[in-house]
Amino acid sequence: MVKQGGRARAAARGPVALLPAPLSPKIVRSRTLGELDTLLVAMPASAGRESLAALPEAERWRGLLEREAPQPLSVRSTTLANRRQTQAVLGLLPDAPSEFERLQLAGRMLKSAAARTPRAAGLVALGTSAARAAGLEALLAATLAEHFPLPSFKSAAPAAAALERIVLPADPPLDTRYAKICADGTNLARWLTALPPNMLDARGYRRVLGELARRHGLGLRWLGQSELRRAGANAFLAVARGNGHRDAGIAQLTYRPARRRTAAPDVALIGKGILFDTGGVNLKSHRSMLEMHTDMSGSAVALATLVALAELRAPINADAWLAITENHIGPQAYRPQEVVRAANGVSIQVIHTDAEGRMALADTLALAARTRPHLMLDYGTLTGACVQALTERFSGVFTNREALAERLLAAGRASGERVWPFPFDADFDADLESKVADVLQCAVEGKGDHILAARFLNRFVPPEIPWAHLDLSAATRAGGLGHINTDITGFGVRFTLELLVRENVLRALREQI
Ligand SMILES: [Zn+2]
Repeated sequence: MVKQGGRARAAARGPVALLPAPLSPKIVRSRTLGELDTLLVAMPASAGRESLAALPEAERWRGLLEREAPQPLSVRSTTLANRRQTQAVLGLLPDAPSEFERLQLAGRMLKSAAARTPRAAGLVALGTSAARAAGLEALLAATLAEHFPLPSFKSAAPAAAALERIVLPADPPLDTRYAKICADGTNLARWLTALPPNMLDARGYRRVLGELARRHGLGLRWLGQSELRRAGANAFLAVARGNGHRDAGIAQLTYRPARRRTAAPDVALIGKGILFDTGGVNLKSHRSMLEMHTDMSGSAVALATLVALAELRAPINADAWLAITENHIGPQAYRPQEVVRAANGVSIQVIHTDAEGRMALADTLALAARTRPHLMLDYGTLTGACVQALTERFSGVFTNREALAERLLAAGRASGERVWPFPFDADFDADLESKVADVLQCAVEGKGDHILAARFLNRFVPPEIPWAHLDLSAATRAGGLGHINTDITGFGVRFTLELLVRENVLRALREQI
């Protein structure tokens, strides 16, 4: 693994950096806001000119505010008359904004300032104490996302200036450590998802896992194809059969705060890691195949969340289970009408080889369930139907505990990574009845495929384990989402940290929500 100071641009000249250089601007609290290249100020549109009095060159800020009608979520900018010609960016919030709106405004402000890479950026939020803390955190999240370079393999990339210092006002109090670790997690998921499929192949992914396990003191177990054959994981192996190499596998990473490796997991995070999805013998067309290197983003979210939990030293025993394979074509590739038996004994009639995500997840869920976690969460870019239903602005959630649905929604609202629940009623199972096997992989027609996929996965999760399934329709969106200005959003890390760490859903489950 190569550590690099700036962008990873090692393609032609040695080992490819499969992990990003650590993002390390210093975050400092200061009473003064001098010597800044950029100063970003978020305020309620209704707050009025008096609230700008404490800013340097307050008259200029007032001019900005009064330049046009104060439209919520609008951004305006100018240059201050100081020696550094500070770029001044003012963003206006609606009254009582949602967390998503705070992030969205912060993302727009960062975008409008993107022409110049500052060495020192100042962030200010105005309003009540709670509004200032929330506004500041959104600006910090957006700043750390915007100044994180995604993989680039240009041989003559210009040396990008790096952000060195982020200056925050001394008040209000803010957990900058949590904010930074959360942003790093989202950035790690974005980075891995953006890597080209010839670089993040199964071998490359294993190197990434080895390195992350070493850095963060995680346990790592790799179940290769022969172990999976012994475990009876034939649904996963059916997908892996089309690969050019026999290097697919399921990884289990373990974080134990007290370092007692054998302690039972509180939570298992399970991710779909399809490194490239051709669709298999039901081959995708040009446009629908083009972005299919991002079909591993579910595994990146599970992995990056586990790393963030370790960095936070969260008091949670957590495992990540990553289903890592391509879905390829070739003489050995699996075909419609095959019948395969998964690790928990359930037999599956294959209908469409492009519904490989649920095949790979089926065995991974069954294996994770053997460790008896108190909660299972799985992530996958699973169905086009979920995107049809929600667009890429929300991700879909399904759960086998009705009371959990409210918690999931709340974590989505509070984190700004919004989720929406779908029905999970048992009568949908009639659409997956097979004449020859226990269950159909999917229905022949695509109607409600996101719901049927969740009902299919339900066959591999014991009913006594609380479980939520996230269909990551918001994993990629043209132009970005919320505070993220790139197509790859890393959606899921921020949401899950909110659910596990801030909302403490595990305690709620113990207390029988
Ligand atoms: Zn597929």
